[in-house]
Amino acid sequence: MSPQPLLEKPEPEAHLVQFYEADEHVLTQNVGRYLLEGLKLDEGLLVIAIKEHADAFIRELERCGTDPDAAVRNKRALFLDAEETLDRCMTGDQPDWRRFEHVIGTAFLEVRSREDHLGCRAYGELVALLWKRGQFSAAIQLEEFWNKLLESGNIKLFCGYPIDVFGPEFRADSVNALLCAHTHVVPAGLDSDLESAVGRAMDDVLGAEILNVRSEMRTSFQPTAWATVPAAEAAILWIGNHVPAKADAVAARARTYYHGEKRFRALVENSADAISLIDAEGNVLYTSTSTTSILGYGPRELVGCNWLRVVHAEDVDSMGRTLEDVLATPRRTVHWQARLIHKSERCCWVEGATTNLLDDPDVRAIVSNYRDITERKHLEEENEKRAEELARSNAELQDFAYVAAHDLREPLRTVAAYTQLLKIAQSDEERGQCADIIIGGVTRMATLLDDLLSLTQLEFDNSREAVELHRVVQQAFKNLEQAAKESGATLAVDPMPVVQARESYLVEVFQNLISNAIKYRSVAPIEIRVTSEAWEREWLIKVSDNGIGIAPKYHDQIFGLFKRLHGREVPGTGLGLAICRKIVEGMGGKIWVDSKPGIGSTFCFTIPRDMTTDGSELGAQSKT
Ligand code: ADP
Repeated sequence: MSPQPLLEKPEPEAHLVQFYEADEHVLTQNVGRYLLEGLKLDEGLLVIAIKEHADAFIRELERCGTDPDAAVRNKRALFLDAEETLDRCMTGDQPDWRRFEHVIGTAFLEVRSREDHLGCRAYGELVALLWKRGQFSAAIQLEEFWNKLLESGNIKLFCGYPIDVFGPEFRADSVNALLCAHTHVVPAGLDSDLESAVGRAMDDVLGAEILNVRSEMRTSFQPTAWATVPAAEAAILWIGNHVPAKADAVAARARTYYHGEKRFRALVENSADAISLIDAEGNVLYTSTSTTSILGYGPRELVGCNWLRVVHAEDVDSMGRTLEDVLATPRRTVHWQARLIHKSERCCWVEGATTNLLDDPDVRAIVSNYRDITERKHLEEENEKRAEELARSNAELQDFAYVAAHDLREPLRTVAAYTQLLKIAQSDEERGQCADIIIGGVTRMATLLDDLLSLTQLEFDNSREAVELHRVVQQAFKNLEQAAKESGATLAVDPMPVVQARESYLVEVFQNLISNAIKYRSVAPIEIRVTSEAWEREWLIKVSDNGIGIAPKYHDQIFGLFKRLHGREVPGTGLGLAICRKIVEGMGGKIWVDSKPGIGSTFCFTIPRDMTTDGSELGAQSKT
């Protein structure tokens, strides 16, 4: 069989022909590609076509991203009406060489590049019009004029003929002369659709004869005198010459198959899903153009490759098992999800359905259709995270509400009880005492509510700044000036790092810890020390005191809401350490206490180290 014609780069003086009546859309596509290639090579373009075709070619060029109007303005392209031009080239019923040479020669001069070696390419339908009018010899005469013109310069020509390759006129003798006038026949059908349609039609119609016919075709078909003819057209012509009795039946059946094939292809190509056919080893036999929108690869890049090549390394095993499952159960659809690797190397989630149709004689492949679900997956993951977060914060809220209600009720009970007593109090002294207790209860409730509010208002929005911890500790101590003075507390601060955090939150942490060190003092003079240690990924900060200490069994509890180990003798709400824990954990750190009753306590917490600001200076040591 003859090779496919050279369409992208036809050699100079190539004279192409396409018989387009069976599929005009293919003519538009092929002429579009032919003209586009010319524009890329900076050749001059001359298009002589009926208006309907010229409009279709212009639309096709625009679809391919070029601007044919600009080419016309720049005198790189010229569109002539076929009817008018033909009239100008004829004398009576016959083409006139002098007129033809003048009209077409002038048109070529208009579009010829200044750099002459770049040449021109033309598309023409003059001959097609003569053919349509039944003026076959005039058409062949005009083809010869064209060939004469092609010899004179660097020119290629593409002719379109309204001949139906499935019709009897294609097998008429007049077509032989036409073929002889050209160098290449451009396929009249899409890709290999025409070839497979003709092949199937021959199998059906010729039955047992087919093997002989095929071997005869191989040995006796010598298209040397003709143009390079594609396999499908060559087979139709051969059958017409050698098995004429069956030629009509083969052509009619081939037409049905071709259009069926086209309809199927249109369905597949326009489906939002990608569709691929693979063999039993996983090699890609076919993949639809919609694959490009999912994987970035064009079908030609994937055909011949193994399917697992585009599967994410972590999903290769499961995908391999899916393939085994599919192979073991013909005709049963197996559903799967996997990560595939896009051409740009990003990973995308894909959901697909695969059916083993290897035993179906019309398919003989494993068929998969699949779609991109990356966005859906991300949403699902986000929703899962949100649901977990919600469940956690709901549980926290329940605990919180329970504990808050419990602790708020205690001063409320006091207020209610003493208000009753106030009603029956006999003396001013009694009434004064009741009022004092009521005020105490209300004040305590107000303090509780303030602390609760500051706990609930802690928000972690990841906004961070460079914070000098040394300054933060000083600020916290200054806020406690009164209590420190009254108790005679001293504070020693070791060199401290600069960290990435929210400054106001860190002031609150140190203030709570230092205030506790003052509140829970022993009889000894209060000594507080703040130190820092650089760990591999975090800073360890310690606030130590020489106070009363905490028994080990309470070391965890004291960080809970309203957890106090003391009564009213020491003021407090039991929320200070809960606030510290929420802040530290919000920064990605941890907080705990090392303590021995009677010796003192060391509250420790960590702050993740930001490697960019790290190696930062340690603040000056100070003693307050
Ligand atoms: P508050 O101080 O308001 O009671 P905190 O949450 O700050 O609440 O502390 C919880 C409990 O932990 C305190 O009631 C106290 O019993 C104990 N505690 C906290 N800090 C110290 C400390 N430095 N020394 C001894 N006990 C402490």
